[in-house]
Amino acid sequence: MAQIASKLIGGNFLFSETNPKDVFIPEEFTEEQKMIWQTVHDFCVKELHSLGLERVALLEASKDMELIKELFHKAADLGLCGVSIPEEYGGMGLDFNTGLLFTEALALGLSFATTLGAQVSIGSLPIVFYGTHEQKQQYLPKIATGEYVCSYALTEPGSGSDANSAKTKAVLSEDGTHYLMNGQKMWITNGGFADIFIVFAKIDDDERLSAFIVEKSFGGIEIGKEEKKMGIKASSTVQLFFNNCPIPKENLLGGRGKGFNMALNILNNGRIKICAGGVGGMKFGVTKSVEYANQRYQFDKPISEFGAIKYKLGQMAMLAFVNESAAYRVGADVDKKYRELLDGGATENDAKINSMREYAIECAILKVQGSEAVCWVADEAIQVHGGMGYAMETGVEMAYRDARITKIYEGTNEINRMLSLAEFYKRAFQTKELKINDAAKSIPMGIVQNFNPFNNGFLATETEIVSNLKSVFLIITGAAGRKLKTKLVDEQEIVMNLADIMSVAFMAESTLLRLKKLKTDPAADKEALKTKIKMLQLYIYDGLEIARKSADNAIDSYATGVEKFTMKRVVNSFLRNYDINPKNTRRAIADVMIAANKYPY
Ligand SMILES: Cc1cc2nc3c(=O)[nH]c(=O)nc-3n(C[C@H](O)[C@H](O)[C@H](O)COP(=O)(O)OP(=O)(O)OC[C@H]3O[C@@H](n4cnc5c(N)ncnc54)[C@H](O)[C@@H]3O)c2cc1C
Repeated sequence: MAQIASKLIGGNFLFSETNPKDVFIPEEFTEEQKMIWQTVHDFCVKELHSLGLERVALLEASKDMELIKELFHKAADLGLCGVSIPEEYGGMGLDFNTGLLFTEALALGLSFATTLGAQVSIGSLPIVFYGTHEQKQQYLPKIATGEYVCSYALTEPGSGSDANSAKTKAVLSEDGTHYLMNGQKMWITNGGFADIFIVFAKIDDDERLSAFIVEKSFGGIEIGKEEKKMGIKASSTVQLFFNNCPIPKENLLGGRGKGFNMALNILNNGRIKICAGGVGGMKFGVTKSVEYANQRYQFDKPISEFGAIKYKLGQMAMLAFVNESAAYRVGADVDKKYRELLDGGATENDAKINSMREYAIECAILKVQGSEAVCWVADEAIQVHGGMGYAMETGVEMAYRDARITKIYEGTNEINRMLSLAEFYKRAFQTKELKINDAAKSIPMGIVQNFNPFNNGFLATETEIVSNLKSVFLIITGAAGRKLKTKLVDEQEIVMNLADIMSVAFMAESTLLRLKKLKTDPAADKEALKTKIKMLQLYIYDGLEIARKSADNAIDSYATGVEKFTMKRVVNSFLRNYDINPKNTRRAIADVMIAANKYPY
């Protein structure tokens, strides 16, 4: 029998049935949280969307760093640089989930979103999470007011995905007062005008990285030219060269050799934010597309009346809704875990660090899903606009170029797919935080009865499918693991297949739980619920196809003979056809967008 989730454990969704009551849904955001969204949204509309084509072109030409700085300081004046900084250090001290909502709203800020995003996320969180009280006092108030612009310097020309192989070195001076840093960093967002760099380097010949808070004013830092990029042009991206840069020993952050884990954990944070930003981008894509489709006539009709266009609008809206459901579910769990750890006696830093680390699997899933969905939406938004989509003035070509980076940074999507599996294996077999043995025992039972204690008949088929998706993931992962043992990690194609099945299960379950919770809310908009159900159904319809293909690929790649035949039979029995009419479902969703002339939820 599936166990009821009683603890906040990352990855546990694979083994337990979650009570919908325990899940946060975006419909529950408070007025105060919505005000944060509104402030950021208004800032983006007032300061960026009203810039006009000429000034946006200036931003895009990467020439006008002055304009970027001006926008940065306007944002700072509204307090937007301090959203993640605790109040005692001069920030707003927003909880994590409100921080995600901030990120969603910021997606409207063209590629300036990357500049501000780096400030409030990877640039300042290493100090918020790992800093001493003195370091926080020294730096955070100035970061919150925007007096200090900050950046995060991990990548080097020779070390990208393999971040721990970085060559930048720090050596303690003979008098023991400071480190001397030498090396080179690459692709550093905000680097061109940052005052503070969080730099990852190895002390002496250490195996693991350490992290340092480096001020530009320390000297010994040469800043390279602005990179000429495909997108996110309203953000500075440079190389940094450290030539005997002197760093006071007090500026070592988080302890010697702690930098690599810090880097990964800060990236967990960035990964879920990519999904939240993607949700903002997807909603923008739907709204821009539907506005255009409603007013563009061809063959004497608005193009929004054509099925081919409705297909795109329905699909775009569904992706926004599903990613939103999953991102804020995890964001709220991070907040709950943080409070649980604090209540258990953890320090503020440890509670922040470990609540984030707990959800490494989910963050990796969200990064991949959110980035791939927003790239698809941006591409199709151009298609809806036809030739006009290719012109700068509609804004969608910019969105397309800007979206593309999300599949690359904060760990490429290949790395994140592998990471989600690696983290699953670690938790299941090394640390045993996930009770895989108990769960594996329950799988055959799942075949016969699919027991879910929270299944009250509403969306019963979809509930069974979600449960089956999890079972398929566990069956193939278990079987492939038994056969290939440690060699499985080298069979990356299979690992990617498994990651995709796990992702579909998670995204589908998050959306399903949202609807189950909404169903029990007497105040929920019943008409909207009907459309939201259609979005879940459409996702499941598509997700099953992804899962079937991934499962076939995985099994065909490792199994032979009788094992292959048996595995396929079992998996096929789980991933049966799902009987909806996809055309009508997409059309029904699209019609709601068309009537509202925007993404209405
Ligand atoms: C605009 C921009 C802004 C950025 N901002 C920052 C920043 O602020 N700070 C910072 O530190 N970095 C930043 N980065 C760097 C970014 O995080 C890296 O580009 C990214 O991690 C990938 O590293 P790489 O470019 O060296 O690619 P590589 O690691 O060389 O990867 C190349 C390809 O090989 C694949 N690959 C690599 N290793 C494996 C493996 N083991 N198995 C399978 N496939 C593999 C990758 O998935 C990818 O497809 C930024 C990059 C860009 C382009």
